[in-house]
Amino acid sequence: MTASLDIEEIRRALQTRDVLAFYQWPTKRSGRDLESRACPQRPDHSRRALVITPANGRWYCHACGFGGDLFTFIGQVENIDFPETLARAAEIAGVVESSMSDEERAAKHAQWRHEREEQERRDAEEIRLRNQQAVPRATAYWESLERTNARGAEYLGERHLSTLDSVRFDPRHGGAPALALYSSRGEIRNVVARRVPELGEPKTPGLYACPSAGTLIDAVTDIRPGRDVIVTEGVIDTITARIAWPDAVILRAHGWANLPLIATVAAPVIANARTKLTLVPHQDQRGFQGALEAAEIAIGAGLSARRGSLTIVKHGAKDLNEAWSAGWRPE
Ligand SMILES: [Zn+2]
Repeated sequence: MTASLDIEEIRRALQTRDVLAFYQWPTKRSGRDLESRACPQRPDHSRRALVITPANGRWYCHACGFGGDLFTFIGQVENIDFPETLARAAEIAGVVESSMSDEERAAKHAQWRHEREEQERRDAEEIRLRNQQAVPRATAYWESLERTNARGAEYLGERHLSTLDSVRFDPRHGGAPALALYSSRGEIRNVVARRVPELGEPKTPGLYACPSAGTLIDAVTDIRPGRDVIVTEGVIDTITARIAWPDAVILRAHGWANLPLIATVAAPVIANARTKLTLVPHQDQRGFQGALEAAEIAIGAGLSARRGSLTIVKHGAKDLNEAWSAGWRPE
């Protein structure tokens, strides 16, 4: 009897951790979110494509390109319709048939909806503020970096690379080559360094509490007719790409999860500018999987491998820098 199950009451009682525990869902913590290789559509993504925010139950699969709330999560995991989903959610949340009068129920609904809207507004405001505060901080940090550094330049030389205008050096990480991370509006919102190898992990630290979503070295706002776009992985590969394709716009995802995001933002701009997208993944299964996911999004935006506006580069080496060092050059 779903009619007497109160949807607002269930929504309020339903906790992310109870839903995940019910399905014994494998997750890993990532800041305030949880990540998983399993999403409601596919149990076996090659990467942790699913991100869930426990505080509000919102989830998104970056590989599949969709998400929702805990109701849609349950519905998709079990492949059941909404009344069945509601019954299952009630079971998970421990909610039984409601004995409230219609008036009580209406009053409660209005109050809960108000509270939920307030919470969503506060969450959005917090993210907006955090991203806004990151811009002056990251810009000042970028301005403080060195234009030249003996160890940094030597390290680039070890990777068969040279010093470039778009690369600076971070003395706090042993002279590490560093790149600016741009928002889709072209603002600097983070700085990512490739630490010199003798310092060990972490290899590519960013700034604390600055967003990792964005593009390294160039910005989506740099895309214009006549400039091809290269999307790479890794700081060193990005610097390599800048040297290998000197006239192209180079966009690098900071972290694999941002690759489909970049494709989502950049592909329509590329299609509109009638230019070309070249994906340069690491030449392993994970790299190609990420490139295929990004390619699907690009095709959805109107790019086409057949018409030559979409290419995935296969150079045969482990990564672009290794290929470059061995003498590989783009066609
Ligand atoms: Zn998925």
